[in-house]
Amino acid sequence: MVKVISKEEAEKQGMEVERLLQLIPPSDPRVRSAIAPFTDDMLKEHDIKDRKELSDLMFKAMLRYGGIGLSANQVGLPFNMFVLGDNLSLENGLKMTCFNPMIVSTSKETVLMKEGCLTYPFLFLSIVRPRKCVAKYTDENGDLKEGQLDGMISRIFQHEYEHMLGRNFTEHASKMKLDMAEKKAKKMWTLVQKRNEKANK
Ligand SMILES: [Zn+2]
Repeated sequence: MVKVISKEEAEKQGMEVERLLQLIPPSDPRVRSAIAPFTDDMLKEHDIKDRKELSDLMFKAMLRYGGIGLSANQVGLPFNMFVLGDNLSLENGLKMTCFNPMIVSTSKETVLMKEGCLTYPFLFLSIVRPRKCVAKYTDENGDLKEGQLDGMISRIFQHEYEHMLGRNFTEHASKMKLDMAEKKAKKMWTLVQKRNEKANK
């Protein structure tokens, strides 16, 4: 038999409690407001030791929820940062932790790609964005990085950067396209819930 104990009780007993950052709903103002620049002293308040620890927590949550990018405000943290990658299909599993990201310039050439977002389960939208971008940020060691991104990495960077501005990918779709995609997402959501109910019986 498994005895369920509370997080507080477990901590009291000296057990290591796994910390999993929680996604917040799209209606939450924290995911709808622009984020102020990040400084390292902001971490203390949220019981996070340093950039490395935050990066690890972010990647852990991103992988758990099945994403290829995750912004801090999607899990309710007021930090101007996101993580992306850690997927073998993307540049051999490249991992990027981006603090105070900026898009310096974008290519004239655009591409149409299907996008999803962990904040909007099962919602997929085909969106036109610049193909390449020149990105600038500091990484988990505080080192300044600047370089041109292309392909999926460029696409994810642009998507996540938008989260820093308190905006999201649904703003790029027409009302009709969004309505259709939302209907599909709702159907999928119901299907999954039904399946879970059955599994729990
Ligand atoms: Zn997103």
